[in-house]
Amino acid sequence: MAKKKVAIFAGHGTSQNGTWDSGCTYGKYTEAALVAKIAASCVQYLKVSGVDVVTDAPANKINMVKQVARSNSESVKLHVAFHCDYSKAPKGTIPLYISERGSRLAKLMNKYVLKYSSLTTRGVAKRTDLYELKYTNAPAVIFEVGSIKQDLKTMLKEYDAIGFGAAIGILEYLGVESRPKQYKLLAALDAVEHKVISQHYKYKNSANLNKKTINCAEYISWGLRKIGILAKGHSI
Ligand SMILES: [Zn+2]
Repeated sequence: MAKKKVAIFAGHGTSQNGTWDSGCTYGKYTEAALVAKIAASCVQYLKVSGVDVVTDAPANKINMVKQVARSNSESVKLHVAFHCDYSKAPKGTIPLYISERGSRLAKLMNKYVLKYSSLTTRGVAKRTDLYELKYTNAPAVIFEVGSIKQDLKTMLKEYDAIGFGAAIGILEYLGVESRPKQYKLLAALDAVEHKVISQHYKYKNSANLNKKTINCAEYISWGLRKIGILAKGHSI
């Protein structure tokens, strides 16, 4: 069966004339950077579940008009753009949609973002005036993660959980089986892979070759310890 293809974009980053677009800001923090991390996490979980993803995360270098054009030319099944609200906005998510199917997607994403992170919600909302929602052929959601001021700490600390929850909602919408624990494990292994391999390489080239090598079990144990399934100091 062909892979299902979706579009997951980070809001702002690049404006239509190619200049930097930070989105809203609070102190040194920018909407563009905060949501890029969340979008990247969401993309990672979708990919390990076998979904094809069109994205600009984490670089955040495709402007909104081009994002919509990409989604339409690639005939994606759904289009999601992550944004956050300005500093005077109250706390909580507001996923925005325009169509019936968009509403279902917004509700599912919100359900699991609330389940897996400590964000609160202001509920989903229909908006008929937003470019991305109006001109994307596929069901579209602008996922407003929260207020850049009120929800800053949560966005910084829990970006991975927010992206993960969003991905689980998207998978349910697509009818793709989601296995939260396995995804966490795969993603954690992926994240440490580079570190493990480079360390392994170092050991291989050291004089103590026989004393320090990482075998497969140790590699997996490392991943399990990283995500807290295995206690520190334990191996499988
Ligand atoms: Zn925005």
